[in-house]
Amino acid sequence: MPISIRSRIAIPYLVLILLVMAALAIYLIGFVGDSYRANLQEQMTVQAQLVGDAVAPWLDDGQHTADLRQQVAYLADVLGARVTIVAPDGRVLADSDVEPETMASHLFRPEVQQALTAGQGSAIRLSDTVRMRMMYVAVPLQEDGQLLAIVRVALPLSEIERDLASIRRAILLAALVAGAVTLVLAVGIADRMLSPLRRLRHAMDRVMQGEFDTHLVPTSRDELGELLLAHNRMADHLKQTMARLDDERSQLRAVLEHMADGVLIADAEGQVQMLNPSAESILDVDAQRALGRSFPQVVREHQMIDVWQAYRETGESQEQLIEATPRGPFVRVVVSSLSGVEAGASLIIVQDLSQIRRLETVRREFVSNISHELRTPLASLRAIADTLRDGALDDPPAAERFLDRMDAEIDALTQMVEELMELSRIESGRVPMRLAPVTVADVVWPAIERLRPQAERADLVLHADIGDDMPMVLGDLVRLNQVVTNLLHNAIKFTPPGGLITVRAEHTADMVTICVEDTGIGIAPDVLPRIFERFYKADRARSEGGTGLGLAIAKHIVQSHGGAIWAESVEGQGSTFCFSLFVAQDVSASR
Ligand code: ADP
Repeated sequence: MPISIRSRIAIPYLVLILLVMAALAIYLIGFVGDSYRANLQEQMTVQAQLVGDAVAPWLDDGQHTADLRQQVAYLADVLGARVTIVAPDGRVLADSDVEPETMASHLFRPEVQQALTAGQGSAIRLSDTVRMRMMYVAVPLQEDGQLLAIVRVALPLSEIERDLASIRRAILLAALVAGAVTLVLAVGIADRMLSPLRRLRHAMDRVMQGEFDTHLVPTSRDELGELLLAHNRMADHLKQTMARLDDERSQLRAVLEHMADGVLIADAEGQVQMLNPSAESILDVDAQRALGRSFPQVVREHQMIDVWQAYRETGESQEQLIEATPRGPFVRVVVSSLSGVEAGASLIIVQDLSQIRRLETVRREFVSNISHELRTPLASLRAIADTLRDGALDDPPAAERFLDRMDAEIDALTQMVEELMELSRIESGRVPMRLAPVTVADVVWPAIERLRPQAERADLVLHADIGDDMPMVLGDLVRLNQVVTNLLHNAIKFTPPGGLITVRAEHTADMVTICVEDTGIGIAPDVLPRIFERFYKADRARSEGGTGLGLAIAKHIVQSHGGAIWAESVEGQGSTFCFSLFVAQDVSASR
């Protein structure tokens, strides 16, 4: 278990203080014991001298033994000690505790010997008489320079030890109390010292949970105070950094979400970690399902997987164009490393080039179509010119016919050039639409009337179904007539004799839809999306004579009105071409 800083601070202090206390206690116990004994010895010496003075009158001649003994007993009682009077020859004259007659000579007791030689003696030893360890003090009693007796005072050592023990206990108790107080103080001080650290830890926890405004007020100006201030600075810095990172992340997310290129990131194991909406639509996958799955599972396109594998094997960026397949569009794939972010991860960029490819195709076809369209009348003119030069000029009626054909070819060429110029003008927006409220009848009827003879010649029934409640539409009448004319013209051209052509109009609150329906040859589903392109002809052999521009012009006119044009068809059964126009607001319905 790790040792807390509090313990690390408190324990050494405590040990040091306890050691000092113990040393002090040991010293005190020794010192107090010694001085107690010295004191006691001094006290006992004084007592012995006093006893000597008190018993001196009964020592003169040996006649007052009884009195002496009584006095000694009395004094011993008062002093609480054993008192012994020893004659100079060693005989015990009186003793407070023992019968003197039973006692051996005391002349050679160490304290007695010491008193005789040094004037005062003391000893701690086992008493031969009372069989216990005693402390003895003896002093000689003299009168006029003559030794009368030796007075000895003794205390049992057990008593002295008892006193010393209680002193020792008091000292130990004091040391223990001081130790306990020190312990509490040491822990308290350590606690107080560490409180800034604890606050710092809590603050850091909160910063970790994103609460960057967690600031600490330092309570001291020391290193810990500095630490708290440093934490505040760090939290501020972190907040700014996170805010900057958040901004950058949002910008990056916005870029990824709105960019046209598909972006995927796969980790070192090849699992897709991220893909943007463009990648979802180009690869036709759902982000929810794609995330966490392997790159090959997500793209399901072997060419793309090969490019990615090549990058993984070589570690070098790869780039490849992948032709449109039934499962995917025409794309450019770039696989490169995501170094610096995640080792082994790959960044895959998928660019959808289908639109560009389609535009290229349309442009190529346009050039080839226009050359083709020009070649036919030019070849025809060349043939006529050659025929005329080769002698037809000499045959005036034939020459006349050839000139008529030349006229027709030149008319066709002129019409084509005009239509092209018209289309280019409308496309570039140089032809301003003069929008005004017009009736649906005015849009439809002139074209019907103009083309009716042609329809009848082709043995077709031309029928109009326009309700009386049609609102007025907003449009340029001349241009709209041209749209209906173009649609009717096609319907007549592509409907075999005996067919029916119907012009209808329907309306909603703000739109009117005009449709031209025929029972003709219809249009194959695969070419239906392309018929509004310039020069596009579904069946070149059959639509000879047309320029392929009619529908393109119609589309641009309708789009310039803000409307839409579309076609529906069942091959072999007929086609329906419709276009929608805005209702002219604030103008009451009229026919
Ligand atoms: P064109 O001058 O050839 O008629 P358009 O742009 O008007 O040129 O039409 C383009 C092609 O669309 C035509 O060549 C034809 O194949 C097809 N198309 C147009 N209208 C019809 C229709 N009503 N029925 C069948 N095919 C049609």
